[in-house]
Amino acid sequence: MHKQRGQDPRVASPEPALRIFMRRLRQIMAEPSDGQARLDTIVRQVAGHMVADVCSIYLKRQDGSLELFATEGLNPAAKHITFMMRGEGLVGLCAHLAQPVNEPDAQNHPSFSYRPETGEEIYHSLLAVPVSRGGSDVLGVLVVQNRTERLYSDDDVEVLETTAMVLAEHLVSGDVAGVNSAAEFSRSRSHVVRGQPIADGLALGHVVIHESRIVVTELRSEQPAVEIERLETAVAELKATLDELLEQNDMAAAGEHREVFEAYRMFANDRGWLRRMKEAIQQGLTAEAGVARVQNDTRARMGAHKDTYLRERLKDLDELSDRLLRVLAGRKTGNGGAKALPADTVLVARTMGPADLLDYDRTRIKGLVIEDSGGQSHVAIVAKALGIAAVGQARGVMERVDSGDPIIVDAETGDVHIRPSSEIIASYADKARFRARKRRKYKLLKSVPPLTLDGQRIGLSINAGLLVDMPQIEAAGADGIGLFRTELQFMVAQALPRMERQTQFYREVMDLAGDRPITFRTLDVGGDKALPYLRHPAEENPALGWRAIRMALDRPGLLRTQIRALLRGAGARELRVMLPLITAVSEFDAARALIDRELELLDRRGGPLPKRVHVGVMFEVPSLLYQLDALMPRVDFVSVGSNDLLQYLFAADRNNERVASRYDRLSVVALRALKSVADAAGRHRTPISLCGEMAGSPVDAMALIGIGYRSFSMAPSNIGPVKSMVLGVDTADLAAHMAVMMATAEGSLREPLKAYAAAHNVEV
Ligand code: PEP
Ligand code: MG
Repeated sequence: MHKQRGQDPRVASPEPALRIFMRRLRQIMAEPSDGQARLDTIVRQVAGHMVADVCSIYLKRQDGSLELFATEGLNPAAKHITFMMRGEGLVGLCAHLAQPVNEPDAQNHPSFSYRPETGEEIYHSLLAVPVSRGGSDVLGVLVVQNRTERLYSDDDVEVLETTAMVLAEHLVSGDVAGVNSAAEFSRSRSHVVRGQPIADGLALGHVVIHESRIVVTELRSEQPAVEIERLETAVAELKATLDELLEQNDMAAAGEHREVFEAYRMFANDRGWLRRMKEAIQQGLTAEAGVARVQNDTRARMGAHKDTYLRERLKDLDELSDRLLRVLAGRKTGNGGAKALPADTVLVARTMGPADLLDYDRTRIKGLVIEDSGGQSHVAIVAKALGIAAVGQARGVMERVDSGDPIIVDAETGDVHIRPSSEIIASYADKARFRARKRRKYKLLKSVPPLTLDGQRIGLSINAGLLVDMPQIEAAGADGIGLFRTELQFMVAQALPRMERQTQFYREVMDLAGDRPITFRTLDVGGDKALPYLRHPAEENPALGWRAIRMALDRPGLLRTQIRALLRGAGARELRVMLPLITAVSEFDAARALIDRELELLDRRGGPLPKRVHVGVMFEVPSLLYQLDALMPRVDFVSVGSNDLLQYLFAADRNNERVASRYDRLSVVALRALKSVADAAGRHRTPISLCGEMAGSPVDAMALIGIGYRSFSMAPSNIGPVKSMVLGVDTADLAAHMAVMMATAEGSLREPLKAYAAAHNVEV
């Protein structure tokens, strides 16, 4: 649009056009508007005036990084998403040098840093000028880009520099309110950043900033032979670390991430990769710049691929380049760098992958704060398994922290306290002491059998899904694993785990559990649990869509492979398999037939057969409430997935805060439904247990005991509190009391149940 102007200002004498333009700029600054809108108008005007395809404003954040604040021409979705680290890219270079960068062929400049989200791959020439106060104090960078290769004229530079000057004045005077955040983020002050809890816990510690990428500052070298030798030494070191990691057989370290590390090793041995880096060095670059140049090419290719599998592989190569840069910079790839980590490390990261987290010495990591990343992310799953208090979606945390800052991560509320006041520290220290005292108390209960006052044995198992969870069975004193979420292994993997990998994984899991039973739930994917490498149609209501057993029965190959792997992994041991989201008994029959066929096949092939295969259902869909007498005799056991059962019963999305807690799971309605399942199981002598979140809440579990449940599976940290409750309960008295309440009361029984617990000294 802006190219339709009648007059090309670069052809006309620059003064009048520039003067008109400046008047317009000052008008924009004077108009009543908010800071963001003003910047948006400025970039539009500059692009129009300079006939540029792109004009963007990057502003400096406290950590020295440059954030894309406004753009005309680049993908608008990249605003506030794209950052350049201190000195990174041509934009970073411009800020670093505090002088204009004028590049006709920007993409081939060794400093160029490709950002796929911006869509800038089609622009060749780039002119960047610093937005600075008094020449040196750089507040940001103003950039124009064009598709064609061209060197911008002196007039262009002048227009842009003048605009930058006007912009700087207004940034400093605060006219662009809410945009110049420098003062606001003073690093000496305390801050609270609100994020989302992604792994429960409380951590008081000191900040270690996780740097995923090294910024290359030395670009050119006259000594290619020296640089090539440096590169070769670094690649050799990188390979040795990967070999060591893969061979050390530390399952918790390599474990489910073996695929990632194997992919890294494969790329590290790729001659083409090394050759391309060497070629770049031969052209006069340092080893670091050579790695970065090839990495940029990879990123550009990454953005172009539609195929998710290939994109993931290129991502591996990208991460490997980061590792190589860290080796060249003299930082160890593992354990978070050359410096020893403080014993109370709280990692703060912009983004982080599960393999990155496992690189650190986990005995020193108390907390984790990530700017991006939600509760379902892979790094969240690993943080949970490692017992690290973690908060995600902590927007703006990076520019507020410095290494070594005191920090508190409250992963109950999602609050992150940066440089907290002594009062806040004191109150959290109390909280932490209280938690520690409780933990000590629960630890003492570890070998106490979970018997009620009237001698009923209550089964307490844990929910798990990764190898790193396995030591928790012993640590919590649990009976076994009541719910093994097999999809977690698939979710943290970079590619669909093949049968051999699955077999080996299940075998390791069973070996580690010894003679304690594990109930393996077959893949519960689809819906909101998407696997990046599996194509899945977009659905309007994923929770009601093509997921779990529905997907498994439609695509039996996936289920068949998993069953084969489970049977082989079990060897001659007993095996327990549980089918998720069964809605009709016919689905159970179909899945069971598939399992029986696999058993037959294995028998024919002479493979060792498990001593027994128990096949059960996960009771998660209310339609089963009306098929109870058909279902119970068919199945070897039932495990109630109360999270899903209640979300479907109440038609309330369990992940939607607005509605999730609207219908109490201790309401008479929910308890009636749950009781009818327990009653039917009792009638048919079908073993029953419950593995949803209710199992881990002492008051909920008490109510469940009152309506007939005797077995639960929960997060390991809940075993102690639930056992404390069990030890104080008289089941006969509780059952009688609940029968009366359920017959006479309406609505939630939570408060009456708490009152009962208080009156009977039951710890809930
Ligand atoms: C449930 O639905 O209660 C359950 C335990 O399964 P998930 O939370 O994995 O859906
Ligand atoms: Mg479920």
